[in-house]
Amino acid sequence: MDIVRYSCLETVHDKREIVLLKAFPCRWGRCSFCDYIHDNSEDEQAMNVTNREVIGRITGRYGVLQVINSGSCFEIPPATLQLVKETVDRLQIRKLYMEAWWGYRYRLDEMREFFGIPIIFITGVETFDEHFRNDVLKKGFEYNSVAEIKRFFQSVCLVVGIKGQTREMIARDIKILLDNFEYGTINLYVNNTTGIEADPDLQNWFKSEYAWLPERKGIDVLWKNTDFGVGAS
Ligand code: SF4
Repeated sequence: MDIVRYSCLETVHDKREIVLLKAFPCRWGRCSFCDYIHDNSEDEQAMNVTNREVIGRITGRYGVLQVINSGSCFEIPPATLQLVKETVDRLQIRKLYMEAWWGYRYRLDEMREFFGIPIIFITGVETFDEHFRNDVLKKGFEYNSVAEIKRFFQSVCLVVGIKGQTREMIARDIKILLDNFEYGTINLYVNNTTGIEADPDLQNWFKSEYAWLPERKGIDVLWKNTDFGVGAS
């Protein structure tokens, strides 16, 4: 499988470059819909070689960089992280987007201190429906209130169009996102090697009902999972 690891997002509100880095296994690793953890590795040296080539493509043209891996930024090998930091400094990048699983929420400031520039932290809530998130999607994501999530994360990812989700559930998810978060990414689920299945009718409903959504500042909608230009092709 070919994996594209660098892209420049030209059509989003906050134009930015994005890199998909190789990293150690996701600390959680149990989400029922996730097969991209197959990109995880234990071969630190090989990961650093791949990542060096990818990081070498960053130009800093928009001064904003999104760094993702198939897991959380805390699983990126230290030498790779150091190289990202040197690149951020050299190219005078002024803002980063990074991702972390909820279990890392108390460590986000470590990354902020390391980079010394603002970081928009993204977490995959997937849905605010408790049962669907934790019992079906197995996110391991328990919280007391949306305000608690907001205290740590500026941006959330939602997934849309999985069998078992309902229109009401999705409408509620989008409303909570728009009412509470400055940034968000909505992914239309694409069938993969897991047993979790897409619901095409629900996705068609979403596409017509929420066609206006990408116009909302800060909201990115991935109508296909490769819309960010990185990932398996
Ligand atoms: S936390 Fe993210 S990377 Fe880890 S298993 Fe869940 S969806 Fe996959």
